[in-house]
Amino acid sequence: SKVLVSGANGYIAMWVIRDLLEHGYSIRGTVRSTKKGEYVKKYFAGYGVKLEIVVVEDITKEGAFDEAVKGVDAIAHIASPVYMPGDMVEPALKGTTGMLRSALQFGHTHSQSIKRIVYTSSAAAIPGEMNRPAVFTEEDWNFQVVDLLKEQGENASDVTKYRASKTLAEQGAWSFVKEHQHEISWDMTALNPTYVFGPSIHEVTDPTSLNFSAKLFYDRVADSTKSDEVEEQLLINTFFTWVDVRDLAVAHRRALEVQEAGAERIIISAGPWRWQDFMDTANLLDPPPQLSKPLPKGLPGTVSQHACMYDFDNTKSQRILGMKYRSMVEMTRDTFADYEARGW
Ligand code: NDP
Repeated sequence: SKVLVSGANGYIAMWVIRDLLEHGYSIRGTVRSTKKGEYVKKYFAGYGVKLEIVVVEDITKEGAFDEAVKGVDAIAHIASPVYMPGDMVEPALKGTTGMLRSALQFGHTHSQSIKRIVYTSSAAAIPGEMNRPAVFTEEDWNFQVVDLLKEQGENASDVTKYRASKTLAEQGAWSFVKEHQHEISWDMTALNPTYVFGPSIHEVTDPTSLNFSAKLFYDRVADSTKSDEVEEQLLINTFFTWVDVRDLAVAHRRALEVQEAGAERIIISAGPWRWQDFMDTANLLDPPPQLSKPLPKGLPGTVSQHACMYDFDNTKSQRILGMKYRSMVEMTRDTFADYEARGW
């Protein structure tokens, strides 16, 4: 069957496409320009006609995806601004509801129809307050960040704008599905991944061109010139949860395949981290990574007062999607092997 993947040239989308191609799917990927599609085509050249790239220049335009949805069996909607300057809400929200509207209007013929749409939301759409001990579940919604953006408007931080964009886009998607439930041939699954780390296969020329999350990882865990400036507070007491990009790709495929995933939002998370945990893991790799810069050490052995204060419950992903998550050691090892292969 054929899957439409939006934002095909991105960090996560490239792994999603690779996993789907390896499992026999055909792909139609959307990119914003012919040039961005060239790398994708080259990377997947071995799959021949199973990959097709189409250009959708502006996903906020009405009917942007009308042509792209024709003749596909499923959609993975991944394109969304990740910490880009300017407004992130409009492209996230309009891109998502626009995709659903195109799927409603043009996603079926007499002999074929779209069955499932997987929307790549984010854990950013889940918790509001993260300064109290808690385990967040799919029942939680980040309403706070939406209020904060309303209050601060243009002056809001990029973190606020991004989190609000993902919350509003996912809310918009569920409202659209509810409003049109009697007219649509498909159902929707939202995936809510936490920080995504792991090797890159999209077009990356140097560490500064990594996507947002992978660049954070490189700067803190691999680049001593950046990490040495980082204070203890950040290394020891900043924590979130993470997932390997290759596991997230599997989650997308299973979300397309598993019947019970329909109408669900599902947290995709391997577990909590602090920067120091990744640094310790990197420094214990055997054989040690051979990078052009010395590995930062951070403050090994320093115990956080609030280590793992909160977590995201991933049991639903295990139950419905059968997820098994790669370990911190495996992700860190493979990410450093990727850096080495690039000569960084
Ligand atoms: P990338 O920046 O690598 O990919 C983002 C993709 O979205 C690119 O193809 C990009 O196109 C496209 N895009 C961005 N803004 C627009 C726009 N205004 N119009 C059309 N296309 C646009 O990021 P990731 O792969 O990390 O992110 C992919 C998705 O996963 C996003 O929806 C993100 O919110 C979500 N996510 C990511 C997490 C992470 O830690 N990385 C965590 C949780 C969710 P172009 O290259 O042309 O800019």
